[in-house]
Amino acid sequence: MKKFFVLFTLLAMVFCGNSAWAQVAESPEWASKIKAEGLGHSQIEELSQYLTDLVGSRLTASLQKRRADSLVIVKLKELGFSNPRAAFAMEFTRGGWDVVKTYAAMTTPYYCAFSVNPRAWSGSTDGLVKGECMVFDVKTKEDLEKYRGQVAGKILVIPSTQTNELNFKPLASRYDEEQLQALTEDNRANARPRYGRMNFDFRALMELRQQMADFYRAEKPLCIVNASGSYNIPGSSGVNYKAGDPEPVPELGMPIEDHGRIVRLIERGQKVEMELELLNKFTDEKEVHNIYAEIPGTDPKLKDEIILLGGHFDSWHGGTGAADNASGCIVMIEAMRILKELGFKPKRTIRLALWGGEEQGLYGSRGYLEQYLQKGDKKLPGFDKFALYLNMDNGSGRFRGIYLERNDAAFPFFEVWMKAIESLGFKYLSPRTTGGTDHQTFTRLGLPAYQFIQDELEYGRTYHTIMDTYERLSLSDLRVDATIVAWLAACAANDPGRIPVYPVTERMPR
Ligand SMILES: [Zn+2]
Repeated sequence: MKKFFVLFTLLAMVFCGNSAWAQVAESPEWASKIKAEGLGHSQIEELSQYLTDLVGSRLTASLQKRRADSLVIVKLKELGFSNPRAAFAMEFTRGGWDVVKTYAAMTTPYYCAFSVNPRAWSGSTDGLVKGECMVFDVKTKEDLEKYRGQVAGKILVIPSTQTNELNFKPLASRYDEEQLQALTEDNRANARPRYGRMNFDFRALMELRQQMADFYRAEKPLCIVNASGSYNIPGSSGVNYKAGDPEPVPELGMPIEDHGRIVRLIERGQKVEMELELLNKFTDEKEVHNIYAEIPGTDPKLKDEIILLGGHFDSWHGGTGAADNASGCIVMIEAMRILKELGFKPKRTIRLALWGGEEQGLYGSRGYLEQYLQKGDKKLPGFDKFALYLNMDNGSGRFRGIYLERNDAAFPFFEVWMKAIESLGFKYLSPRTTGGTDHQTFTRLGLPAYQFIQDELEYGRTYHTIMDTYERLSLSDLRVDATIVAWLAACAANDPGRIPVYPVTERMPR
């Protein structure tokens, strides 16, 4: 038995690099301390209320986002982190935009107020206005010409193919064992090329959109109404706009039920009128900012190396961006708080990064990459100091494991680190890639940047809608998630080894 153990240890040292000597990972004392603080003295509830109800929505470059940045910095200072600050990340040509007032109701054939959400970067009405609704069905440039001269003062309702179907699925869900097991299987053999051909003409669609925007400006309808969201909950989205362009025509997102009612009434020959008051403010804020704070490293040789913990702090307007993505910020802040509170001395520096501009194209994390890691083809000093990035941006569900982005060399590290947190349900290491958020900025270069396997809960039906508020947060799941991040960050910060950079080849299959 003993001989086998020695042999195993030696093999582990050969195949796992130094990770077999991971100091924190092998310390049951630290595991217990972190679990006791994270699960027993959690500040998740307080942080959750602060980052949603108090802070509000945080659209990129909005005044609301600027207010949120100052408020979160106050909180990070209160928690005693080092050097909490907002820093420039990237230029943002759309400029700033904030909602000041939104009101919409049907007045003919009867009165009914609607829950709606203006589309970001769309314009304002001239006070309270009233107009007749017409269905505006445009699929080609020729269609557009048919409407010329007919739409001034009208409310244009864009038809939708979305319908309401009975839904027998549960409102919220968790992964079952079978699904999780499937995620641990390598799917590279079935991967499709990353740059597949799009099956529709994207350029033609963009051209038509531009022609429609020009048409609206010239023909002056009162407002454009789009189907957006269901169950009478409007979603959030934005229009194409660049700072300095003429202000676009007002546009609304209206849930398919109210939108459908208007379209059906008009199609049956009924006159439909609405009254509206939409006031939106454009500002010349043209910068995306990130929020940073640290627990400084203490080892003279390793303190310049960075363990990044982050998620995007910007949100869509409407709701308070709770699950998307205050939850990610809450977990990363709480993980740092746990380590700070316990007086944990990381060898490497642990840095909190709350990105801006994710929803409009990963602006914040891309800005960080360009400033510290790689500009064009040129590697910057930070590249070799990048030890690990843990990202959270999939709602508030429990972490069940992590996607290791095809980096086989990451497995031995997580296999050692995860032992102490398996009891929290963190058991699955997936070789697969996952997309849609800021870790991709770094994995593109092969850097060790990962996103968790996370229970979906209600995420799919609530994110990017005005339903995304404090109620969408599962506080017990967030407590576990923060404890897991605190543990992994501690392990990574003090591990004598580091996950190697994955060799990136061009046109890597997904
Ligand atoms: Zn998000």
